[in-house]
Amino acid sequence: MTQEKVRRHTRQRAEIQAALADTDDFTSAQDLFAQLKSRGLGIGLATVYRTLNDMVEAHEVDVARTETSEQLYRLCGTEHHHHLICTNCGQTIEIQAPLEEWVKSVAETYGYQNVHHTVDLYGLCPECQRKSQDQA
Ligand SMILES: [Zn+2]
Ligand SMILES: [Zn+2]
Ligand SMILES: [Zn+2]
Repeated sequence: MTQEKVRRHTRQRAEIQAALADTDDFTSAQDLFAQLKSRGLGIGLATVYRTLNDMVEAHEVDVARTETSEQLYRLCGTEHHHHLICTNCGQTIEIQAPLEEWVKSVAETYGYQNVHHTVDLYGLCPECQRKSQDQA
């Protein structure tokens, strides 16, 4: 890569990171793209996807999947955690789960190493429950 390309790449990554830092919610690449666009930043959707994938591989962002298998992204804490995610609005709470000891014992029992796991809980947040009741 040329110097100019490296600079642009770094800036785009910083801008995507800033957009992610603005919200606690899990956000789709499409939504991030729309946000960046509304701030007047000329980043293409393909670049947003590529940069997000790089950030996931570098463990800088967490990924969750919607029921339609769309990937959602979030800038999270560095401590190990799980997610409670609203399927309607994307609101996300970082939670601890009482299974870390159990995971460790399963790994030990079967002699596995580098055992990792993902446990995310999905549901409807209180705010979205209220809204759906108002409409009914
Ligand atoms: Zn997370
Ligand atoms: Zn919600
Ligand atoms: Zn865990």
